[in-house]
Amino acid sequence: MKRIVFATNNQHKLDEIREILGSKFEVLSLNDIGCHEDIPEDHDTLEENALQKAQYIVDHYHVSCFADDTGLEVDALGGEPGVHSARYAEGTDHDSEANMQKLLLKLGNNNNRQARFRTVIALILKTDDDCQVHCFEGIVEGRIAREKKGREGFGYDPIFVPDGYDESFAQLGMDIKNHISHRARAVAKLAEFLSKDHELCSLS
Ligand code: IMP
Repeated sequence: MKRIVFATNNQHKLDEIREILGSKFEVLSLNDIGCHEDIPEDHDTLEENALQKAQYIVDHYHVSCFADDTGLEVDALGGEPGVHSARYAEGTDHDSEANMQKLLLKLGNNNNRQARFRTVIALILKTDDDCQVHCFEGIVEGRIAREKKGREGFGYDPIFVPDGYDESFAQLGMDIKNHISHRARAVAKLAEFLSKDHELCSLS
């Protein structure tokens, strides 16, 4: 079976992608390839960050790899928190409560609550001769609720209401979210691309 590395150790993301690609690819995590270092992620766009992570793995481990980056883009805040979604509240890292509080405070009573989650997946296919780069984007449009609602999910789920629904991602639950989410849409594009017959460099 062909092997490909997903530059993450997030079990939820690994389960999701393995379910989709399972029969065709062995998807390896960073732990699986013995990568325990902090991969740099210091650019200003989701595209550049995803590419930077994938490129790091290709350069250091010489395998085909894909990496993702996601941001919540709020129109009334000029696209914030965007690429800074994980560390929106100063001095925090993945502190969802602090991030949501800051966002709700900044948005205040603004009636323009339009927002979207955007995921970019960068794939670098390493063949014997060269490297090919491909990017896949997944977007879900929605709006920011006036207060947190629901208990499921993670990150900004309690304050994001996708278009076509009255409940937040945290109320809708994983079954619905995994069908319509930004990440699900980007992953579906990646899976469709990979299901075509690509020549991948196998791990030594
Ligand atoms: P990452 O690139 O997947 O690590 O996402 C960056 C940040 O975006 C996370 O720390 C979360 O705050 C937020 N985020 C990403 N995906 C989701 C989601 O599906 N729901 C809610 N928040 C998310």
